Amino acid sequence: MKAEKTIICRITEPTKRKKALLIKELSNANGYIRGITNDLYSATKQAMDKYIQKDKIKEQHTYPLFLRNDTFRVEEAKNTKEFDYWAKIPISNVYGGIWVPIKPHEPIKEEHEIKDSKVVWKPYGFELHLSISFEVKPQSPKNILAIDLGERVMAATVSTADNGNPSLYGRDVRGIRRHYAYLRKKLQEKSKSKVKEVKDKESRIIEDRLHNISREIIEKADKQDALIVLGDLKGLGNKDTGKGARINRIANTMPFHKLTKMITYKAKERGIRVIKVSERLSSVTCHRCGSENTDRPTQARFDCNTCGLKNYNADLNGAKNILYRSLAYMAGDGAVVNQPKTKASITKQDYDTEKVLGNSSLNS
Ligand SMILES: [Zn+2]
Repeated sequence: MKAEKTIICRITEPTKRKKALLIKELSNANGYIRGITNDLYSATKQAMDKYIQKDKIKEQHTYPLFLRNDTFRVEEAKNTKEFDYWAKIPISNVYGGIWVPIKPHEPIKEEHEIKDSKVVWKPYGFELHLSISFEVKPQSPKNILAIDLGERVMAATVSTADNGNPSLYGRDVRGIRRHYAYLRKKLQEKSKSKVKEVKDKESRIIEDRLHNISREIIEKADKQDALIVLGDLKGLGNKDTGKGARINRIANTMPFHKLTKMITYKAKERGIRVIKVSERLSSVTCHRCGSENTDRPTQARFDCNTCGLKNYNADLNGAKNILYRSLAYMAGDGAVVNQPKTKASITKQDYDTEKVLGNSSLNS
């Protein structure tokens, strides 16, 4: 099975001449797609034509310099500690192109097949975004790991390989966001640039946390040979009920979409399958009886007025709902290895699936 990813490489300290050539080529590429200049390496013209729709060009936007995969090269740097690799970038009218030092955010391996890539201009310098294709062994899952996204803890997971205990990730994310929202508000009156500075700092911290959370979850799934089940956030935008509006507000303030994206692409890189199930009302539904007649005495606890489930761990309840819903999706052939073709409608009986898991210790 083929997987793809992008490895971002900083182009570190090119010489003045090389920097000028990169700027020239990037600016010519932008001129070329706007029909202003024709002065561009011919294979690069082809790549620009392939990846940029000329009728959809935004005037103010700087487009990257797209490179056809047979026109550039990456080589490991030897005998130097300054940088890790060299990249050869084709430049029009410069025979053999130019070699620039690059620092990738992860190692480039021999088995990586390099595809068409791009040079991107950032305020702090140039980046080479290497598109990589590589072989991964598809998973034959033995377990299911369900992820419930929430406000109090960002992600609660429970798996058929666990002992009925949830793993909680990102308990601090909401606090970080609150702290920065407060800081921004306080700074608002004083200085606009300070507000932006604080916002950028927050973005970096949150991004970092999300990378860690998603990596930990993926490592767990990998170790357990588990398929991942995620609540589907798609429907969140058009719910008009009070509950939907609440979730909508949370989705806007908590970076659920970003985390979902990270989990999905990191899973793909390892051949782990991700399926999405409806997350509708997962936090207010009783995982044991399916009733929605429930209470949350605190955000951490869960009571069911129908079956009498009392003082239950609310994060575990949500994750179990997601887990049981996934079983409904996979019912039919009874095997978790086959992706369901249609979305099963979720009925109350679907919650009665503890028996499907047999003596799994999820029963509590
Ligand atoms: Zn109940």
